[in-house]
Amino acid sequence: MTARLASYWEIGAPPHQPPRDLPRHTDLLIVGAGFLGSWLAYWISKLKPAWAQRTLVVERDLTGYGASTRNAGFLTAGHVSEMLADEAECGFDALFAQFLKRRAGLALTLTEFPDLPTDPCGSADYDEITDPKRALARRVNGALAARGEAPAFETRSACLGGSEREVFFSPSDRGVNPMQLLARLRAAARAAGVRFAYGVRAQALSGGKAVLALPAPAGLQELAYGRAWLCVNAFDSELVSRSQIVPGRGQVLVTSPVQAATSHHLGFLHDGYDYFKFVDGRLLLGGGRHRFKAQEQTTELTPTDEVRQYLLALACTIVGHDRFRIDYNWAGIMGFPQDRHIAISHRTDLDDTTSTLNACGGMGVALTPLVARDEVLRLP
Ligand SMILES: Cc1cc2nc3c(=O)[nH]c(=O)nc-3n(C[C@H](O)[C@H](O)[C@H](O)COP(=O)(O)OP(=O)(O)OC[C@H]3O[C@@H](n4cnc5c(N)ncnc54)[C@H](O)[C@@H]3O)c2cc1C
Repeated sequence: MTARLASYWEIGAPPHQPPRDLPRHTDLLIVGAGFLGSWLAYWISKLKPAWAQRTLVVERDLTGYGASTRNAGFLTAGHVSEMLADEAECGFDALFAQFLKRRAGLALTLTEFPDLPTDPCGSADYDEITDPKRALARRVNGALAARGEAPAFETRSACLGGSEREVFFSPSDRGVNPMQLLARLRAAARAAGVRFAYGVRAQALSGGKAVLALPAPAGLQELAYGRAWLCVNAFDSELVSRSQIVPGRGQVLVTSPVQAATSHHLGFLHDGYDYFKFVDGRLLLGGGRHRFKAQEQTTELTPTDEVRQYLLALACTIVGHDRFRIDYNWAGIMGFPQDRHIAISHRTDLDDTTSTLNACGGMGVALTPLVARDEVLRLP
């Protein structure tokens, strides 16, 4: 049996209405209205407003089926344990370039939406501090200093489940409600004339022609486009025959309101595979993907008992007791470039008119603003 359980952020958000009709031609077509597609639409409306009324966004779901409405809401530039693992994969220069993008994306989100509620709680990396991690943190802070920028990481004491430990702390990281950010992006784009069509699935695209599946009774419709971006994340292989993207499910739970002997920062554990924060007095905890890797390589949104039990045990460790319930439990799907965690490039051209933009993995909240802005700046 499949169950699609709403995320904490989706509860109470009314689904969008499908369109009655669609144009037969659009100059710009964006497929997928997650963070990447919505930031693209936002930047078009802000930086290239003449294109806004010539832009159509199609999204197959009425809310969002993937990562953006179902993530943990960490607005983070990165943490040391995860970055050490990424450095082994791609080297310092690529790692630092991506860190800068995330840091800039975080800052941009706050300057573009100064009224967006965020939790300025900072983040703590609770994994053991080792010499290689100290060296990497020093190197990142040094590279930032050379650019005249403030350091990213400091060490301080934080509490996890009642015991104090030394952690790497990132003061600029924040918590955010991802639906609130998405709603602002889409509203700003709509106000400038971008059209969003929900419940419309792109079935095939190439060479300036798309086949769209509209809700019954409308059925299939052809659309001609001047330029299209596929921002479908983990679902890339449904549209691109030689796709390099593999899906990864992430499962999340939210407890009942809980007293916790734990610092109220964004928290990272186990190289960032497990992550937690506090929201409305509740613990939000996600992860477990590294423990159940094979079964989590799926686009299926149903949470599993194994991961739930794993997260439940971890939740007890984090709060220091078991006097809470699980009130919410859901899954989201992210896309990764093959088995890698980090993507060096986010764009693949399929032909002269069609590109895919993706592979923001588990980092898209802070990464997508810059990936999308770079793309929009290429427009004439
Ligand atoms: C459980 C979980 C927790 C996470 N936590 C964090 C976090 O705290 N911080 C962070 O930075 N990142 C986090 N991430 C990652 C982050 O959510 C993603 O990197 C980001 O949302 C990706 O955005 P996107 O627009 O590329 O993809 P998505 O949000 O997946 O959007 C793709 C959209 O395309 C649509 N689509 C697919 N196929 C079609 C088609 N054929 N036609 C039309 N539409 C289509 C889908 O319905 C979907 O809405 C998390 C991810 C998960 C799953």
